Amino acid sequence: MTADLRIPGVTVLERGWLSSNNVVLHAKGAGLGSASARKQAMVVDTGHISHAAQTLALLEAALSGDELVGIANTHLHSDHCGGNAAVSAKFKVPIWIPPGEFDAALAWDDSGLSFADTGQLAERFLPAGRLMPGSHLPPPFDQWQIHAAPGHDPASIILFELGSRTVISADALWENGFGIVFPELNGRDAFGEVEDSLDLIERLRPTLVIPGHGSPFVDVADALARARERLRYFRREPIRHAVHAAKALLVFHLMEVGGLDRTALIHWALQTPVYQRMWALVAGGSAAGGALSASEWVGQLADALLRAGHLSLKGNASGVNVLTAS
Ligand SMILES: [Zn+2]
Repeated sequence: MTADLRIPGVTVLERGWLSSNNVVLHAKGAGLGSASARKQAMVVDTGHISHAAQTLALLEAALSGDELVGIANTHLHSDHCGGNAAVSAKFKVPIWIPPGEFDAALAWDDSGLSFADTGQLAERFLPAGRLMPGSHLPPPFDQWQIHAAPGHDPASIILFELGSRTVISADALWENGFGIVFPELNGRDAFGEVEDSLDLIERLRPTLVIPGHGSPFVDVADALARARERLRYFRREPIRHAVHAAKALLVFHLMEVGGLDRTALIHWALQTPVYQRMWALVAGGSAAGGALSASEWVGQLADALLRAGHLSLKGNASGVNVLTAS
């Protein structure tokens, strides 16, 4: 059920599944120290880099005259922070990010950020401040509590507003599931952290959840039950989780680049570090995996996505058949 989202002071900018929602928080009045009489606003997450122009247009409309004074990121995946550089350049605003990735972002250190590892695009930005779990967003948005919510991403935070009992859950909880558990693909047990983050959301007793992807929802208990069922399944079948992640990242990459022929898609995957680890998990963990090469495995994933309708195959202007995200 989609919520009737007339939460005072919040605008949710939702678009296709592969770009994260942007949540505009409108303050009740001008902030302390503000020279302007305009009301202030902050945006939580900025979507994907390829949607940056759309993000700017949607944001401008959502502000409807309010003054944007900052960007906050729940975590630094390319679909959540891809618009950071464009939004901060246009509005001249600082960017607050979770502390776990602050130093890596400041140095733009590939080894501490996810972009190179997952073969995703990002434009460098400079973080200005840390969103410390246990504290609040900066005034005048300080009714929003910051909570650590690792699992999908070790550094991720979620936000909670007590007055409206609203959680901005990022990829820790969706209406149907949660995001890929990336640390598991590195061989680190993080399913327990996913469970802890679901327990945290339950303890907050939200009446509304604004997820990182998809529409806001009010049936929180049902969503938590579905997420826990999915988590039980992945714990029983960690190889299935790796296969699910490998498929999702193929679709995501095709969305990013617009389309590739099958050989180029396989080539991209074989060069992307996270695929090498996923392949090692799959090849080592299943009898079927042992009989395949890595490139045959990626090809089979693409074929399965085609059959399921998640990818389409179309001839491009040069007559080459190109795979695209459906
Ligand atoms: Zn994410």
